[in-house]
Amino acid sequence: MATEPADTSADKIRCDACPVMCYIKPGAAGACDRYANHDGELVRVDPHVILQRTVSHGGRLVPFQAIGDWDGKILQGSSTIITAIGAGTTYPDYKPAPFIVSSEVDGVDMVTVVTEGIFSYCGVKVKIDTDRYLGPETATVRAAGEAVGHVTTSEYGSQMLSLGGVHHLTGGSKKEGRVTCDTLMDLSNCKAVELTIDGGSTVVVQAGHAPIVNGVREERMRVGCGSATIGMFAKQWQGKIDEVVVVDDHITGVLSEHQAGKLLDIPDTGIKMKGRRSTPGRYFQVAEPGTGWGGTNISDPLAILGPFDPKTARPGTTLLMVSTTGEHAAYYELDDGLRPIEKEMPASLKQSVERIQENCEPALCTVLFMAGAGGSLRAGVTENPVRLTRSIKDALTRVTSGGAPVYVWPGGGITYMVDVTLMPANAFGYVPTPALVAPIEFTLKLSDYAALGGHMDHVRPLSSIRDNAEIRQRPRTLPEQRG
Ligand code: SF4
Repeated sequence: MATEPADTSADKIRCDACPVMCYIKPGAAGACDRYANHDGELVRVDPHVILQRTVSHGGRLVPFQAIGDWDGKILQGSSTIITAIGAGTTYPDYKPAPFIVSSEVDGVDMVTVVTEGIFSYCGVKVKIDTDRYLGPETATVRAAGEAVGHVTTSEYGSQMLSLGGVHHLTGGSKKEGRVTCDTLMDLSNCKAVELTIDGGSTVVVQAGHAPIVNGVREERMRVGCGSATIGMFAKQWQGKIDEVVVVDDHITGVLSEHQAGKLLDIPDTGIKMKGRRSTPGRYFQVAEPGTGWGGTNISDPLAILGPFDPKTARPGTTLLMVSTTGEHAAYYELDDGLRPIEKEMPASLKQSVERIQENCEPALCTVLFMAGAGGSLRAGVTENPVRLTRSIKDALTRVTSGGAPVYVWPGGGITYMVDVTLMPANAFGYVPTPALVAPIEFTLKLSDYAALGGHMDHVRPLSSIRDNAEIRQRPRTLPEQRG
């Protein structure tokens, strides 16, 4: 049903909601499937979404869904939130935003300005809770073979990807821009996307779900680095085992040498670690990164040990080797030649491994949509755009995206991030420039809106928003937490 933007024959109407300027024939939709020609009238295809908090459910969680017939009354409550989803776009932005809606909240006249922003400057930051090695920092991340982003610095227990951005949307081939746009939209709409990392792994990412690395679903996020794990569990190991090594690609911990072991008077065992000693009981680079024990490439933990020091070590010394998630663990005793021999793990040590597992949180993928709304979009709100920016910095204007709270970066512009799992389903669209379409709402006092040069002659009451509106329950928790 998509219409070629340049076809100008009769009966067609021209959409001016984005720079593509489609000519749309009767009964058809434009190139983005967001606008259509309905009996000669340009209409926004999706319903305008209005949210209502589910206060009547006693804290029980209700996923997004339409709630059927609307009697037109529930918009009067202060728990109603006008979103920009389905509201439409203003392009070029000197036009007022599609909906500038006034309402009274706790006796104060408020106004919410909503628009579906077209974002060429946008992307997603992806946090993937896994120890498994996804790829080297700065490595290219691909979708369908096209470069869509890169690996960025790891966080504690998570690997991070930075995807999209104006460079991939506009600076590469046409296909790269299209695939980047599709990838961003799918991730932002909480769909699963397969990504491959140059020199690394293949990972399936879906916001609010466990990552799947090289076909294996990740279960747990690490309890901490190897050193932290030693600190957390040292007392539980005291008296039950002579030595513990927590294998970690970043910081492997050794109980007898670690400060925790010293304070608990755990004697030296003569253990020798490979890798680079950082501080006592903390070792870097014991192996190469990988998808084995503790995010290393090893499957045999003894590979990171040198020979035990015969001056200190004694036959019968007991050794537990465990990964940072407790997923891998093995128990050894030194034989007469001071070689570690694997034995069945005593029950008390199994409990400690289970305790590590118990303290690991479920591994999830988190997707934050990030975009810059500090450009022309502001003109749809006020005739003096910089005043909107200042009003946000001064905390007079609240920014939301699809009703979800956003984090606005300090500094210039209105660069914001939002957790896509807090937004209604399918809140994101696209235009083939290519760019993402995302909802954004600005809420402030009506008097402040007038003061910043708002389009006061376009303010309309909340009760007027009824045609083509869809009312949904507002989600308050992540999908994985829903009962
Ligand atoms: S791509 Fe969509 S918004 Fe842009 S002109 Fe065509 S129909 Fe309108």
